[in-house]
Amino acid sequence: MKQQVTVLGATGSIGKSTLDVISRHPDQYAVFALTANTQVELLFAQCLAHSPQYAVMVDEQCALTLQQKLKDADSQTEVLTGSQALVDVAKASDVDQVMAAIVGAAGLLPTLAAAQAGKRVLLANKEALVMSGQLFMDAIRDHHAELLPIDSEHNAIFQSLPLGYGQDASYKKQISKVLLTASGGPFRGWDAEQLKAVTPAQAVKHPNWSMGQKISVDSASLMNKGLELIEACWLFDIQPKEIEVVVHPESIIHSLVQYVDGSVICQMGNPDMRTPIAYGLSWPERIESGVEPLNLFDVAQLNFEAPDHAAFPTLKLAAQAFEAGGTAPAILNAANEVAVEGFLREQIPFTSISYLIEEALNGCSIQAASHLDVILEADLMARKYVEDKIGL
Ligand code: NDP
Repeated sequence: MKQQVTVLGATGSIGKSTLDVISRHPDQYAVFALTANTQVELLFAQCLAHSPQYAVMVDEQCALTLQQKLKDADSQTEVLTGSQALVDVAKASDVDQVMAAIVGAAGLLPTLAAAQAGKRVLLANKEALVMSGQLFMDAIRDHHAELLPIDSEHNAIFQSLPLGYGQDASYKKQISKVLLTASGGPFRGWDAEQLKAVTPAQAVKHPNWSMGQKISVDSASLMNKGLELIEACWLFDIQPKEIEVVVHPESIIHSLVQYVDGSVICQMGNPDMRTPIAYGLSWPERIESGVEPLNLFDVAQLNFEAPDHAAFPTLKLAAQAFEAGGTAPAILNAANEVAVEGFLREQIPFTSISYLIEEALNGCSIQAASHLDVILEADLMARKYVEDKIGL
């Protein structure tokens, strides 16, 4: 039986890589649904290539355009619209696996719905876990869902942990720390003064990875590593003090686990998201992903340095938000999303991103994150707080 896959965020960088891997294994995977926000032409082409049962365009006008195009092309794909449709195709009973690759907080509800429906959740959308960590992990456990980390670092940690990790405390005792690698982004080595003048075009130009705009800016500010630190805490049931961030500019080692006997186990490979995506789709087996094999002679040298917390304060802010608990990570995430948007629109300088996040964490009240409503309210409050500061 083929695995039926819903790809949330199909038109994005992760969505496209997922479809590339799926298309290499037509005997194993079928596409149940594809979703996008506004990119009609690309979703149309993807529908023709993959013949999903459903295509969701969140924007209503775009959905009408897509519907007409598919009708003209004699396609059987049914077009749905609106945010509820994202939830519906994530939890539909025919679906086995959901790739959660919508960017930002917009991915929270469908990703949570997939967990509550007991699916295999391939988690790329780190923002969902950052916002609702406890609720999300409870939903995975209570509904016997499977959570496969797609972020390359977390996928590497997952691959480097002992089999059975998470089942009981005996596995945890074997581990002394997790080493989370960071490329350092395009501004590695720059000081705060130099960072004041950087442009959006410079910030989205990542040295090793080809990614969407928002995560590229997050990588440049190191907030991506901050969000990943919180993500790792939830995924692997650890605390920020058990994680060491290591800047590794070549992005060949994707993260490491240090054991109490002195062993350090890591996962290596060329920086291409199709490796973790293929591993998530096929786990516990492995399938061909289309990724160029790693040639160590070409790589020749691997370098490691400590992060510069003075120039890149976001990493510490993320650790503080996780430790503060409750809705603090949701506030951090929302403030970052609005600040990044403000930077991309050239309304604020790059260095204001971290100031605005810090101000939001100090200025918005932190509540216990006991219900989804409280989390969504904190998200809205932090967005408004930063929008007011920027003057959006
Ligand atoms: P992109 O910006 O390339 O793609 C985002 C996708 O989400 C698109 O399909 C977009 O649709 C859709 N989308 C945007 N806004 C909304 C909305 N309001 N409602 C519904 N859908 C929406 O992002 P990436 O693929 O780079 O990243 C996706 C997620 O994966 C992020 O959370 C990121 O942090 C994470 N991730 C990405 C990695 C990468 O290498 N790119 C690595 C690890 C994690 P449309 O195209 O129509 O706008």
